[in-house]
Amino acid sequence: MSAFDYGDLVLLIDSKDRRYLITLSPGEEFHTHSGYLSHSDLVELNDGGYVKLSSGKTYLAVRPTMSDVILKMPRGAQIIYPKDIGHILLAADIYPGVKVLESGVGSGALSIAMLRAGAEITGYELREDFANRAEKNVVNFFGDEMLTRYKVTIKDIYDGISDQGFERVVLDLPEPWKVVPHLDSSLIPGGIIVAYTPSITQATKFRESLKSSEFVMQETFEVSRRGWHIEGLAVRPEHRMVGHTGFITQARYIKEA
Ligand code: SAH
Repeated sequence: MSAFDYGDLVLLIDSKDRRYLITLSPGEEFHTHSGYLSHSDLVELNDGGYVKLSSGKTYLAVRPTMSDVILKMPRGAQIIYPKDIGHILLAADIYPGVKVLESGVGSGALSIAMLRAGAEITGYELREDFANRAEKNVVNFFGDEMLTRYKVTIKDIYDGISDQGFERVVLDLPEPWKVVPHLDSSLIPGGIIVAYTPSITQATKFRESLKSSEFVMQETFEVSRRGWHIEGLAVRPEHRMVGHTGFITQARYIKEA
């Protein structure tokens, strides 16, 4: 167990499992409909400790996991959900030091997960406000130091790729097939491309753009996750589930530059 300090992220959970993410700052207060607390009340509290609000209600305080932060952090664009992020990390085979081109970066949810797996990311993002949001989310999770491995440029990737030597290209944008003609000399032979697309027609169009002589081991899949309710004799799937998010397409690039 480690105690909280200023600058730390803390996840507060109430008795109804409502969750709130805060960054501890001197002099700040956290307010909800059921009372408030001062951030200083959490300093020196242990991870997993309970804290009392002004109303007398108690909240559990834990250090958030990466998934907790991704789900709670401020968003510009819609994020990729943790269930898909986990599979994208494996499909793109992200490891420490791997050179990744990511486009667009959106809110930085996928960026955070790839950075944590050790990637060096060049991001191309169309919108400056989203690029700033993503950088803020990255800094809030890791600290400023992470910006040495995270360089975001404001750029329309459909116009071309000006950097070279990428081992992975990871795409989350509406028309990934428009990126394929620009991969020459930017994605190294043996590299991997992964595209995340909400609709199957996008996945199909992307697959059609991947010539089988240049892109091998092509696969498209979706990830279904069904939670189970387990309480006494009531053991059954949850009534509600996220029925659809997106499709993940992966392929290996074998064209010599
Ligand atoms: N994967 C991100 C979400 C990306 S949302 C996350 O997990 O947070 C899609 C992003 O692609 C948006 O930010 C959008 O501005 C950007 N985008 C769309 N078309 C683009 C293009 N042609 N070039 C660069 N970025 C683009």
